[in-house]
Amino acid sequence: MIFDMHGDIWTDVTVKRMNGSKNIIKTNHLDRFKKGNMLGGIFVVWIDPPHDKRPFDRLIENLIEISKEILDSDDVIYIVKEKEDLAKAINENKLAVVMGLEGLSSIDKNIELIYPLYEFGFRHASLTWNEENNLATGIDGDVSRGITNKGKDVIKIMEDLNMIIDVSHANEKTFWDIVNCTKGPIIASHSNAKAICNHKRNLSDEQIKAIGDKKGLIGVNSFHKFVHHDKERQNILTLADHIEHIAYLIGIDHVAFGFDFFDYLSSESTSSFSANDSNAIPDMKDISQVYKLIDVLLERGFSNEEIDKISYMNFMRYFTEFRDA
Ligand SMILES: [Zn+2]
Repeated sequence: MIFDMHGDIWTDVTVKRMNGSKNIIKTNHLDRFKKGNMLGGIFVVWIDPPHDKRPFDRLIENLIEISKEILDSDDVIYIVKEKEDLAKAINENKLAVVMGLEGLSSIDKNIELIYPLYEFGFRHASLTWNEENNLATGIDGDVSRGITNKGKDVIKIMEDLNMIIDVSHANEKTFWDIVNCTKGPIIASHSNAKAICNHKRNLSDEQIKAIGDKKGLIGVNSFHKFVHHDKERQNILTLADHIEHIAYLIGIDHVAFGFDFFDYLSSESTSSFSANDSNAIPDMKDISQVYKLIDVLLERGFSNEEIDKISYMNFMRYFTEFRDA
């Protein structure tokens, strides 16, 4: 089974539904999820450019379309809110969906909106996508700027609610500010190792160790530019190198998947930052091909137990223990 800690399904749902389609998950995604033996994933609301100029309105559009989509698909997906829900989703043979927020620019003027979002079902958030906002600073913001006091306040609320705090997309200063102002474990849901691919979206060894020290998780990302700078090395073998490197630094218990597959997105929502339709590594374009990565890990000597941990058990343990705390 596979748990994918990062997918932009809700963006696809919102874009397609606003164009008049319905039943997006069943029509466009479910077959592939089944082929990939997908247990579930963190499905995020991402304020997709150019809508990032009106983040609150875009959040509301997402909530409306997601609500309708959940009604369409509640026989095949299970919105996971409490720790027992992952097991319930498996028992009912439904996809386990953790609701996530990729960036909080949408509520950075009124952070108390995190409460209704929690009631809606959200259990995960990062403070920023790539931008600088009233809470924190993403990788495209001022390098000397980190988290703000308002950002610290929202972290405090999220910790009180036992929400998962995600540091992917944070710049280095924000990353360390979050490490220093959180008590519990944090995750980098979809980031790789800088030691193998020195991209600003990836994590230095010190950052990886800090996440390990806090008993968090790092989900490896299949986006080609975060895998390697050389086109020839943008492949499964290099993605396996990232897994080995992170596991070597902090142990197998803290490695997971956060593939960031682009097939969930229409070119309309990616055109602002990418010219390609698919940006995953070419030998693993979607979740149905993850078995190839597993084969490489087996060849490299990972045991079945270790592979199960990376594939879904680490997330299940994390989510369960975390919601117990
Ligand atoms: Zn992302």
